[in-house]
Order: sequence, then structure tokens, then C-alpha cells
Amino acid sequence: MDYYSSQINRLVEELAHLPGIGSKSAQRLAFHILNMPKENVESLAAAITEARNNVRYCKECCTLTDDEFCPICKNDRRDHGTIMVVENSRDLAAYEKTGKYEGVYHVLHGAISPMLGIGPGDIRLKELLVRLQKDADELIIATNSSLEGETTAMYISKLVKPTGIKVTRIASGVPVGGDLEYIDEVTLLRALEGRREL
Ligand code: ZN
Repeated sequence: MDYYSSQINRLVEELAHLPGIGSKSAQRLAFHILNMPKENVESLAAAITEARNNVRYCKECCTLTDDEFCPICKNDRRDHGTIMVVENSRDLAAYEKTGKYEGVYHVLHGAISPMLGIGPGDIRLKELLVRLQKDADELIIATNSSLEGETTAMYISKLVKPTGIKVTRIASGVPVGGDLEYIDEVTLLRALEGRREL
């Protein structure tokens, strides 16, 4: 990429590091940015920097938020005794979009994968167990139906069942290997309603 000056090259290279952005898209984005009004570029850059600096894990459910506790955990009208375990914040957003789930969440930030060397200590499981020492009526495991998601569900179920807390798994209406965030709301609701006790 020696056709461009060094600063343009740098911008293209930085953009090309983003997931799903190949070299062509990076070039298109770079020239789009260069043609944007200066104040819009500053606003974009500030949004990226500020989000990165201020976003952290919710002290209760571990989702990404810019406050000590996320809006869902802070909401008294939610059912704090029902906890849905999801793999990431995007899965949480998918269930929130249905508007029908009234419980709270726990975000693991990953799934157990012996093949990739990701063990129980690498995801936010400890935080979940601490939470369960307080009041909890039901733990809904909504990890993906991939091998990793199923392994994680089994692991959590074995760990939690002896405590007497009801453990359920969302129905397998969710396609195998399917990422929760791409599944439509009707399917998500059906999976939630059809959950079975483990
Ligand atoms: Zn939270």
C-alpha cells in the first residue's frame, strides 16, 4: 500500500485491524473519514476513546456498562431472583429486544472450550457463584447451542444443582452452533418459554 501517504496508510491499517474489515473496506472507510467534516471526525474519535476508558463490568451481572451497576441490575421492577446466564453482552441485548424477559442476567464473557484452552477460570463464573449465595430462585442457562455453549451449561448445572436452586436450560429451538444474537425474537422467546429443568 505505497500508493498513499504514510498517515493515510496508518489510518487504513488501523481500520483493517477491526473484525470483518478487509483491506478494501478499510480504504473505503479511511477516505470516507477523510471527507467527513472535522467536527464529526472529532466526535467519532472521542466516542471511541471515552467508551474504551469508561466502560467496565457491572458489579452485579458483569455486563459492559459505564456505571458501577448496569441499568438492568439497578431496576427494582426486574425480578432479581431469576438470573439468565448468557455468553456475552450482545446475547443479553438480543433477549432484551424481545421485551418479554423480566429477570436479570449474568454475562460470562465467553464459554468453556477445552479445545481453545478456555477453562472455567477464564470466564465470569466465580462472580456468578458469589451472586447465587444471595437469594436466587431460578438460573436459566442461555449459553449458545454450540459445543462450547453446551459444555458450559453442563458445567454450571453440575456446580449449581447441589445448592437447591432451580436450574433450567433454554429449549433447543435455537439452531445448533447458532449465535444467539442472530436469531429472531420469536425463536428466542420460544426457546425461553420451552426451557426445561436440568
Ligand atoms: Zn448488571
